[in-house]
Amino acid sequence: MADKEKKRNAVNYRLKGIARLGGACFNDGETDVRVLDIHHKNGGGNKHRALYGNDWDLYYLEISILPDKELHRDYQVLCANCHRVKHAEDVVTGLAMAEDDDLPSLFD
Ligand SMILES: [Zn+2]
Repeated sequence: MADKEKKRNAVNYRLKGIARLGGACFNDGETDVRVLDIHHKNGGGNKHRALYGNDWDLYYLEISILPDKELHRDYQVLCANCHRVKHAEDVVTGLAMAEDDDLPSLFD
């Protein structure tokens, strides 16, 4: 599959996942999809993505087709600001380890 098609599919599956999770930041209601992330509620986002290498289309496809119960149990939508704050707080309070964080650039 061409890279361009893979990227387009990744965007579409990501948007589908965001829509199924309510389409807005869980914390503050932000709806601009350009800044919305799919947050791993229980951490492990880096390990999850590493399973797919550069196949972001397959990574987002997996999330987008999860049954409702698993989707809402394991994921939520956060905007970029709330996502960063959430991860910083989780590391400070010990709920997450920096190396398990979804946003490694924050602690590099
Ligand atoms: Zn937010």
